[in-house]
Amino acid sequence: MTGFSDSFQRPINYLRISVTDRCNLRCIYCMPAGGVGLVSHDDIISYEEIYTIVQAAAELGISKIRITGGEPLVRLGLSELIGMLASIDTIDDISLTTNGTLLAGYAAELKSAGLHRINLSLDTLKPDRFESIIHGDKLSDVLEGIEVAKSVGLNPVKINTVVMSGINDDELLDFANKTIGDGWHVRFIELMPVAGVGTQTPLFVPVSDIRKRLELLGELQPCLPSVGNGPARYFRFPQAEGTVGFITPVSEHFCVCCNRLRLTADGKLRPCLLAEDEIDLKKPMRNGMSAVGLKKLIEEAAARKPLRHHLAEGYVPKDRPFSQVGG
Ligand code: SAM
Repeated sequence: MTGFSDSFQRPINYLRISVTDRCNLRCIYCMPAGGVGLVSHDDIISYEEIYTIVQAAAELGISKIRITGGEPLVRLGLSELIGMLASIDTIDDISLTTNGTLLAGYAAELKSAGLHRINLSLDTLKPDRFESIIHGDKLSDVLEGIEVAKSVGLNPVKINTVVMSGINDDELLDFANKTIGDGWHVRFIELMPVAGVGTQTPLFVPVSDIRKRLELLGELQPCLPSVGNGPARYFRFPQAEGTVGFITPVSEHFCVCCNRLRLTADGKLRPCLLAEDEIDLKKPMRNGMSAVGLKKLIEEAAARKPLRHHLAEGYVPKDRPFSQVGG
């Protein structure tokens, strides 16, 4: 087995990297209403620094990388970074999480640089609603991005949909139908209480409810053997080419199989998305830290991974917006 372990013997082989805290959209559940302070350009970690960190992490056993943000495609030259990471022999999976608005223009060059697959966030299929949830008018660009990504072989494109009561939960069947008619892979995600969304939010819809409502379309059959190595559980409607996934960060946490560390846009390594602890890598690197020192810090971050998050007890980290950590 590759990878190293945390103090609960969970193998750690996955690094998520937020390459920017900037985003060209303003999703209501991600950006706090008052906006967010932006990290200064000097404090954003450079592509060379990311490469050095990934090289050290790969020597420890990290083999999977996800690029996220903010919106990663607003950072110039992202394909160059993908190419640098793809050149590291033991990195065998590089994926990207994007809102898709700029994807059509970049998909081909990302693919040739070495990107394997895409997760795309999309919470509505209605143009006017896209504007009110996302505060952007670019639904047609996102839909084009999905088609272009598929056509250049960035497969599978997984669609991530955060479900919110009274906001987009009337579109559950529309999204589910896309798994039947268009072969989409749609993952329904429970709303997490971050960015000013309270823990008792009336917007929250548990996956158990989502699932019941989807069964109006037919029986959901588990995908066997189980697919993916992440937190989603996958199902399929009879005759559907695509899949329906469920991600339950709130109602049923999946920390027991958490295999990841997170690098923030300003170079801090975070053991857990939902805890405030982090270790600065950027400052020691800029002060000349050796690869050995860097590896020790990465191992320390793994050792500091908490057993689980505490959303259910009402604990929400407040130190950073999601856009800096990379949701
Ligand atoms: N800009 C990229 C995007 O839109 O996919 C990457 C960054 S975004 C922060 C990553 C993911 O976090 C998106 O799928 C988004 O839906 C999810 N996310 C953000 N806030 C969330 C929340 N409060 N609850 C659940 N998911 C959330």
